[in-house]
Amino acid sequence: MICEKMVGLVKGSSAIRAMFEEGRKMAKIYGEENVYDFSLGNPNVAPPNAVAESVEDLIRNEDPMHLHGYMSNTGFESTRKAVADSLNKRFHTHYGPENVIMTVGAASGLNVVFRSLLNPGDEVITFAPFFAEYRNYVANYDGVLVEISPDTETFQPKLDEFAAKITARTRCVLVNSPNNPTGVVYSAQTYRKMAEILNEKQKEFGTQIYLVTDEPYRELVYGDVEVPFVPDFYQNTIVGYSFSKSLSLPGERIGYLVIPSEVDDYEEVYAAMGVANRILGYVNAPSMFQLVVERCLEETTDLSYYEQNRNTLYDGLTKLGFTCIKPDGAFYLFMKSPIADEKAFCETAKKHHILIVPGSGFGCPGYVRIAYCVSYETIINSLPAFEKLAAETL
Ligand code: PLP
Repeated sequence: MICEKMVGLVKGSSAIRAMFEEGRKMAKIYGEENVYDFSLGNPNVAPPNAVAESVEDLIRNEDPMHLHGYMSNTGFESTRKAVADSLNKRFHTHYGPENVIMTVGAASGLNVVFRSLLNPGDEVITFAPFFAEYRNYVANYDGVLVEISPDTETFQPKLDEFAAKITARTRCVLVNSPNNPTGVVYSAQTYRKMAEILNEKQKEFGTQIYLVTDEPYRELVYGDVEVPFVPDFYQNTIVGYSFSKSLSLPGERIGYLVIPSEVDDYEEVYAAMGVANRILGYVNAPSMFQLVVERCLEETTDLSYYEQNRNTLYDGLTKLGFTCIKPDGAFYLFMKSPIADEKAFCETAKKHHILIVPGSGFGCPGYVRIAYCVSYETIINSLPAFEKLAAETL
C-alpha cells in the first residue's frame, strides 16, 4: 500500500502528461502527421553543435575518474566558476563559485530551495498562471502555495492582491519569467514594485522573505525584449536556472541555483542547499553534463525557429478570431477559450486532433496553453483544424 500523501499526489498527477500519452495513441490511429500535439514543453530544436562536440571531446580526452566521479555536492568548482564568470559578464555581478550550486534541472533546484527554507505550514506565494508542478514542489515540504489571481489584461503579477496576501508565514515568493504558460516577460517596473512591497513586509513582520526566480526560459525571448535580472531589484533573491530549454537538454537534467552573498544568512542558506542537494537523493548534478555546460555557456539552440513558430501561430489564430496573448518569450501561446469551460473546449479541439492544455492546471481557468515547440509543418498543418475549431466554438 502506498502512503496517504502519495495517494492524493497520484490522483492529481499531471493532466499535461495524460494529454501527451493520449496524443501518442491518436498518432498511432490517425498517423503522426494528422495529430497536432501542442501539449508538452519538450524542445524540438536540436542542441547546438558545441554540445555534441563537448561530449565527444570529454569522453575521448577527460580523465574518466574525473568525468564520471563524485565531486562536491554543490558541483565541480570549475563549472561553478564558469557559471559565475558568465553571469558576471552579462549582469555586472560579482559572483564566485561559492554563489552557485549545480542542480538536476530547475525542478531539483526548486526542491532544494524549498527543502532548505520551508517549515511545515510556511507559505509560498506565486502568481497565476504558473507552472503546475509548483503545487507539488511546495507540497513536498508541507508548505502552503498561496496563489495570486491572474491579471488577464497584462498577465503581469497583480501586486495589490500580492501585498494583501503576504503574512508572517510567507517564506518565499516564486516567480517565473519568461512565463510558462503565457510567454509574458515580467517588467522591470513589476520587480521594482514587488521589491518595495517585500521590503516593507519584511520590516512589518520582522521576517525574511526570499524571492525565488525560476528562469528556464531566460534566453528564449524574441525581438529586442530584455529579461530583467531580478537580484538587481531585491536583495533576498535566489535564482534557479536550467539548460533544459536554452540548450534543448531536458533529459540530461542539468541546471543551477545562484545564491548571492547578499541574501540574508547567506552562508547558512548556501550550506543548507548543498546538503539538501545530497539528502534529497540527487547527491550532485550529472557530472558529464556539468562539464558540457561549462563549455557551452555562451550557446543557445536556434531561437529563430521558435520565433517563426510563434509568429505563424499567433497570426493564424488571431486571424481566425481567437484572442491570444502575444508571447515575448518561452514557447507557449496562451489563448482565451471562446467558451467559458475551457476543459470542454480542449475536448472539442481533440475532435479536430488538436491537443492543447486547459488553463485551470496553471491556476487560470478560461484559457488554454498551446506549446509551439513543434515542427513548423505541424503549425502549418494545424491551421485548417483550428479553422474548423473556430467555426464550431467562436
Ligand atoms: N519551471 C518551469 C517554469 C518549467 O516550465 C519547467 C519545465 O517545463 C521547469 C521549471 C522544470 O524544468 P527542468 O527540466 O529544468 O527541471
